[in-house]
Amino acid sequence: MNKKQIIDTAEENLFHVYNRFPVIFDYGRGVFLYDNDDEEYLDFASGIGVMAFGYGNEDYEQALISQVKRITHTSNLYYNQPSIEAAKKLCEASGMDKVFFTNSGAEAIEGALKTAKKYAYTLKGPGEYEIIAMENSFHGRTVGSLSVTGTEHYREPFYPLMSGVKFATFNDFGSVLSKLSEKTCAIILETVQGEGGLYPVEQEFLTKVRELCDEKGILLILDEIQCGMGRTGAMFAYEKYGVKPDILTCAKALGNGVPVGAFAVTNKVAELSLMPGDHGTTYGGNPLCTAAVSQVFDMFEDYNLLEHVNEITPYLEQTLDRFVEKYDFITARRGLGLMQGLVVTVPVKEVVTKALLEEHLVILSAGKDVIRLLPPLVITEKDVDLFKEKIEKVFDTFL
Ligand SMILES: *Cc1c(COP(=O)(O)O)cnc(C)c1O
Repeated sequence: MNKKQIIDTAEENLFHVYNRFPVIFDYGRGVFLYDNDDEEYLDFASGIGVMAFGYGNEDYEQALISQVKRITHTSNLYYNQPSIEAAKKLCEASGMDKVFFTNSGAEAIEGALKTAKKYAYTLKGPGEYEIIAMENSFHGRTVGSLSVTGTEHYREPFYPLMSGVKFATFNDFGSVLSKLSEKTCAIILETVQGEGGLYPVEQEFLTKVRELCDEKGILLILDEIQCGMGRTGAMFAYEKYGVKPDILTCAKALGNGVPVGAFAVTNKVAELSLMPGDHGTTYGGNPLCTAAVSQVFDMFEDYNLLEHVNEITPYLEQTLDRFVEKYDFITARRGLGLMQGLVVTVPVKEVVTKALLEEHLVILSAGKDVIRLLPPLVITEKDVDLFKEKIEKVFDTFL
């Protein structure tokens, strides 16, 4: 089949829920992707923050191949060793105590919400418990995760959603206080808002929210599905703030390309919330996906990846800051670590499309006016230089 036939077949058979770019990626090597005409693309999106180690990593592939040959699924009626090892490594890396593996980020959010509700129920009995979420947040597309997502146009067609959710202004503690009630059981936020436009939480805000939660017995849920797993230079972004959540959600780079997510809780939460019979999933924690998770944690150590992220980040930041100086239509840079955004006054969709189709540079957008960069964590200065060369050509067309 030629490219047109492949795309036509796709549109005939796949539910048209995404507006896709006319590119068919076939394979990847390192930080490069190749389409089915063997054209090379520099990837500064990593499959929306998933492919932290880039493509074609042999250590990763070998771990998966040997697990495929052993066993890929058993169900949660039995123990399997990869999930146990992966859970132990996630606990060690996050400072959390107990892990539940899911198949996606949204499903991790669902589990976190159920955990918070059950915790309040255990302590206080039945009640219409409420959750405070943030405006401009993104937590996923399932009904529960959409209920705490603060973007009206994602939500509006699907009303009524889960009740009892109040939205506060991100980084505005007064706003959080104004949404607080006797029924509040949890506050959920992204440590760095991703889809909303690369807004890091402010230190003072997060510290105050943590103190409020402690004082009122409310659970703090930190969604690190995008900003976790080394993206900001710490394994989890909250480490940078010296704050720990009661419930952590994680996905995207957790499996470096296999569908896996997790929510993790402290012992206190585990003991007073979900019990056998309260929650479950058929695939979640299956040996294939958790072998990948386990390998990912090993590779973070073997490659000294956090150190690398902290070394390369200033180089990328300087490159981006120079764009802010050089181009009038780029008004600001925002983000943490290798999660960076450029705020633009030109149509961001056009920038992303031109970068992809004309310069073979894969980048993302966020919010209405932000170019979002989530490169593989293994990028080098040479890759940043190539990125600069390509994106400047795109920017120059807007002068
Ligand atoms: C991507 C994302 C989700 C949803 O994850 P899925 O795997 O797409 O369900 C939730 N929260 C944040 C912060 C995300 O970036």
